[in-house]
Amino acid sequence: MKNKQEISKYKFDNNGSQDAVLARQSAGVIRRYVFPVGTTLFCKGETRQCAYLIDRGDVEIIGNDEGGEDKRLCVISEGEIFGEMALVDNTPRTATAITMTQCEIFVIPRDSLHERMNGLDPIVSLLISLLIERYRITRIHMPESLKQDIGNFVKKLSKHENVPEETFRLRNTDKQRQIALKEMKLEQELRAGLEKKQFIPFLQPILDLSTRHVTGFEALIRWQHPDQGLVFPDDFIPVAERTGVIQHLDRMMLEKACEILPVLHAIKGAENVFISVNLSGINFETVDIVNVVRRTITDSGVDPGHIKLEITESALIGDPDQAEKVLQGLKALGMTISLDDFGTGYSSLGYLHKFSIDDLKIDRTFVMQLHDSKRSLDIVRAIVALAKNFKLNIVAEGIEREEDIITLKSLQCDMGQGYLFSKPIPVNDAIKFLENNI
Ligand code: C2E
Ligand code: CA
Ligand code: CA
Repeated sequence: MKNKQEISKYKFDNNGSQDAVLARQSAGVIRRYVFPVGTTLFCKGETRQCAYLIDRGDVEIIGNDEGGEDKRLCVISEGEIFGEMALVDNTPRTATAITMTQCEIFVIPRDSLHERMNGLDPIVSLLISLLIERYRITRIHMPESLKQDIGNFVKKLSKHENVPEETFRLRNTDKQRQIALKEMKLEQELRAGLEKKQFIPFLQPILDLSTRHVTGFEALIRWQHPDQGLVFPDDFIPVAERTGVIQHLDRMMLEKACEILPVLHAIKGAENVFISVNLSGINFETVDIVNVVRRTITDSGVDPGHIKLEITESALIGDPDQAEKVLQGLKALGMTISLDDFGTGYSSLGYLHKFSIDDLKIDRTFVMQLHDSKRSLDIVRAIVALAKNFKLNIVAEGIEREEDIITLKSLQCDMGQGYLFSKPIPVNDAIKFLENNI
């Protein structure tokens, strides 16, 4: 984080405080700046624009607590936040902030908070908005008579406080409320669905591209919704991840995979077929996932060598050391690890080197454009070369055309799955597919 290249260049305004200049220059994005000693970040009485988080250095806050002379109220340093009321509204500052040393500071413009809240869990976002609005109203000591006349309330108040009307106007949270309500309903339905066993695995065959024999299946979750019919994962996985329901779903899918494996292995010639189970990155936040997986595998009695766990790069980037600990724990149980959706995320060379990974799955967006875009072909070629270098097996997703196979084979890609072979299908159909294939 202390990389100098990440520090934004800042053009100083020599006339007084920097708050408004910073808000303009930051353009709604949180940035880190270096400020020389003696910089006035903001002044008492000025309109509030940004909050500040100190990465390095000391800042002095000057003001008066009981209406007396201005004096130093405190000195704040690394890791502390100040000026945060700017995130609530743009009423005047009640204190002045000046750097006491050269400081490296993250500047958080008010706009950036709203941007970030859009990406949050809608319920958290709604609650924060409401709390901010309540706070905006109640912190201003207004006479009861004013509060009663809402129509005139904002006008009078803004005159009274000498700030623009819009500062006091309540934000319209109707849309946020609707989204939050939808999310809450979906969460309840997910939990009920889990209890009522409405989630089932579909299986999609994964084939050896040279022999066209089935080597395994990917288990993909489906929701048999009582009113909506078959619901696909893209419509509920994001909410399941935000609410923690995903951990139950993933565990259930692993249990199902363990139940299905012996049935597949009973087919002559299919004794080595594996099942791949998707594991959301949320599971990686605790090492407990290793114990959960261990218990499931032990209880079922299956050979862990026939289970693959598919994870995405996002599971690895948050806390790489923790992620590697989990991966090693899972591998120690005897399972193999596939890195899913490769090419869509960070796709850093460093991952392949650092993490205990066995297979790499090339995302379907590249495979599906192999013959339409030279860029996709180049990307797939580079990924395969990279994977070979790290001695990883490669699985191509999204194979829809015969010519994809020819190209993938010429690139020395080992395995593949896609609609050309089969869509994800119910377990009974997968058994038939396997019987016919062998
Ligand atoms: P994914 O892990 O990348 O799974 C592959 C997706 O590609 C599946 O979508 C599959 O139906 C689709 N696919 C496979 N071949 C083709 C093809 O030739 N053409 C096209 N257009 N699509 C193809 P699906 O089943 O809708 O799953 C979507 C995503 O939901 C999965 O992407 C995975 O990220 C997530 N997911 C599914 N099941 C689970 C689960 O049990 N746990 C977790 N955590 N995530 C799951
Ligand atoms: Ca997958
Ligand atoms: Ca994938």
